[in-house]
Amino acid sequence: MLTTCGKLHSNELENIWIKCLEILKNFLGEDSVDTWFKPAKLEFDEKNNPVIIVPNAFFADFIEENYKKILISALNKLNIKNIQNIAFKPQENEIEQTKKVANVIINKNYLKKQNNQFNLNSNYTFENFIVGDSNRFSFTTALAVAEAPGKTSFNPLTIYGNTGLGKTHLLQAIGHFAIKEDTADNVLYITAQDFINQYMDHIKNNKDSISFVKKFYNIDLLLIDDIHFFSKKPTTQKEFFHIFSNLLNSHKQIVMTSDKKPDMIPDMMKHMINRFMSGLVVDIQPPNFETRMAILKKKAELDGYILDDNVIQYIAAKITSNVRELEGTLIKLIASTTFTGKDITIETAKEIFQDKITKNEFSLNTENIQKEVAEYFNISVNQLRAHTRKRNISYPRNIAMYITKKWTKQALRTIGLDFGGRDYSTVIHACKKIENMAKYNKNVKNDIENIEKAIKKYM
Ligand code: ADP
Ligand code: MG
Repeated sequence: MLTTCGKLHSNELENIWIKCLEILKNFLGEDSVDTWFKPAKLEFDEKNNPVIIVPNAFFADFIEENYKKILISALNKLNIKNIQNIAFKPQENEIEQTKKVANVIINKNYLKKQNNQFNLNSNYTFENFIVGDSNRFSFTTALAVAEAPGKTSFNPLTIYGNTGLGKTHLLQAIGHFAIKEDTADNVLYITAQDFINQYMDHIKNNKDSISFVKKFYNIDLLLIDDIHFFSKKPTTQKEFFHIFSNLLNSHKQIVMTSDKKPDMIPDMMKHMINRFMSGLVVDIQPPNFETRMAILKKKAELDGYILDDNVIQYIAAKITSNVRELEGTLIKLIASTTFTGKDITIETAKEIFQDKITKNEFSLNTENIQKEVAEYFNISVNQLRAHTRKRNISYPRNIAMYITKKWTKQALRTIGLDFGGRDYSTVIHACKKIENMAKYNKNVKNDIENIEKAIKKYM
């Protein structure tokens, strides 16, 4: 049993844990501690290593990935021994059960407090979405659906358009709204890539697909991003269609995004396309000049900057077809001026573009690094950008972020965006994790060195 440590008894352990929670509250705030640490307890294993017992595997992964370091420093303050060997373990009776449960089914109560910590980017709200002629219809229908999921005739709703135009932003805004305004109980945001990966894993481990499909039955609002990835995957399509029909038949809301109009996605089942097209299909176009200016202003404002109109106009004129790139340039500009202490002027903006132009196509950038890392680990670039916590993906992703930060001048925020729209804190976390691992793990060090050799050709 894990209940005692040397002379420590369970009530003493409990007291230590309570003190630990107090310390954690100073760093993380009460909400996070209540959500993640209150349901946990401290024990020690037979080698006297601390073990945190958590309600289920999802908690174990989440705490390990996000809060391990801070927990260690809190326990350090309480003189806990062997703290570097800390482990996270689901409660005994939960282990079997949670193995089977997809970690993506988001419980509304966690989400209410923590939605920025899950797959939803906290900036992707309706409030932060600039509406212009190019996206007004999509915006309005997305809002209507968020206000009354499953109750409008926009079901399923499909938003399609080229990359970087705000599809994921709108999709997640629906999720944020539904959670905040309580219009849906169980909300799930998942990318088609993650759906495919989870389905494959499930089949590998469980062999039957019924239990996979069942996990989606209690969802009220399903937000599924980038459905074009279902192309050429007939088995997964079949399972998705099963879930999809089931939810629609019970008047649950489904919203999807795609880079093409659904009937233009190659190799998709006919009856699936027909169901997609029977709902509402709306598109997003590249924003016009005024909308691009408004977007830049909004993004700068979110970062606490008010930029000169000249600067805004200059960037808006240079980048015309992709909002992600527009935003990336702005972040780069802000980062470079923060770094050099220069003011943000039209000259500094020009320098940024100069930088862009002089860099030839062989120069090292995030894309090249992602390509090399994916190749090295034998996974796809899309998997690298996907929102999965699986180690065979998350480890390569962390390595890729680490190398991008080390070898390119990209701002952390830009790196986060290039890795599936992640927050900059995720990038910091990934880099630190790899840095630490490389210190004591030869394999990690090797991986880094090999990849660095591979990217030399771009330098
Ligand atoms: P997509 O999913 O279509 O590839 P995203 O939703 O990831 O594009 O958008 C890329 C970036 O551009 C995101 O950071 C998003 O916030 C931003 N963006 C796109 N359109 C808008 C808009 N109309 N207002 C504010 N930000 C936008
Ligand atoms: Mg997207």
